[in-house]
Amino acid sequence: MVIDFDRENYTYEDFISDVEALSKKYNSIKYVTIGKSHDNRDIAMLRLGMGKRYILFCGGVHGRETINPIVLLKIAEYYAYQYEDYIKHKKIGNQRITDITVNIKKQYEPMIFKRCVYELLQTYTILMIPLLNPDGYMISLYGHYAVNNSTLQNKIKKMNPNYAEWKYNSRGIDINRNFPSRLWKPKKQGDYAASENETKALIQVFHHYRIRCFLDFHSRGKSIYYYRSSMSEGYNRKQLYIAKHLKNITGYELNDYNNEIDDGDSGGNTVHYFSEHFNKPALTIETVDEDADFPLDYKYRAKTYEEIKLVLFELGGLSL
Ligand SMILES: [Zn+2]
Repeated sequence: MVIDFDRENYTYEDFISDVEALSKKYNSIKYVTIGKSHDNRDIAMLRLGMGKRYILFCGGVHGRETINPIVLLKIAEYYAYQYEDYIKHKKIGNQRITDITVNIKKQYEPMIFKRCVYELLQTYTILMIPLLNPDGYMISLYGHYAVNNSTLQNKIKKMNPNYAEWKYNSRGIDINRNFPSRLWKPKKQGDYAASENETKALIQVFHHYRIRCFLDFHSRGKSIYYYRSSMSEGYNRKQLYIAKHLKNITGYELNDYNNEIDDGDSGGNTVHYFSEHFNKPALTIETVDEDADFPLDYKYRAKTYEEIKLVLFELGGLSL
């Protein structure tokens, strides 16, 4: 397997080399660059599968949420492996039960699962942007030294932040409050929506593909946000329907309409923009315990992977 959770230090460069390695090893994974961050890092997007319907997964919008990017890569690898293993076995025709003394259930179950993954990736193409904010990711792990552009570096240094808590991009903007939507409000003079490269890159992807469902993975809280006050009752009914399915798979709690945004905060989240512009499902999934400290312990990777790896499989069954 390409993705290894035991590398405690996992940099942006490691991430990009993993993305390249995945696309080399698996025919079902391709990758493209959808834009550049303000500190000139590539924003990578994987394309997994062959289907005409699109599902989009995004992660790493907030710098300090360092677990989800590598977890999403491992999920891509998991599905690519099942898919290609199915094709391989189909070709050599050894799918039939060969030894009846072995537990039949044990032999058939993995085969049925692989077959379902095959169908899933024939029907859907999964677009995956595991790390939308590579600068923020590096700043949260390594401080202002991670910023190459000296103007940006000095600006961040002057702010003297607690780097482990850094949510923003390298210009100090929260990407998840930068999307033009009905609940967006400027925080200070001169703020405008979609001002950031990372925001623009995601908006372009939204408009380029006809995406059936969008999930944005954040941390913390082991919960699912689905309610959208700017949208119709019918829209929210569908959101709740999907959220309940994802709750069953992950064990995460649902955040109801009271929790859509915190008191005094503004909208402008990725999911707000997507819901309002395309009228299609968009949910935020919060991984990792609510009381986890930043920097997040790398041991959360394996747990989070087990919790969310079947989310895609479940979505596939909902005929979106
Ligand atoms: Zn977040």
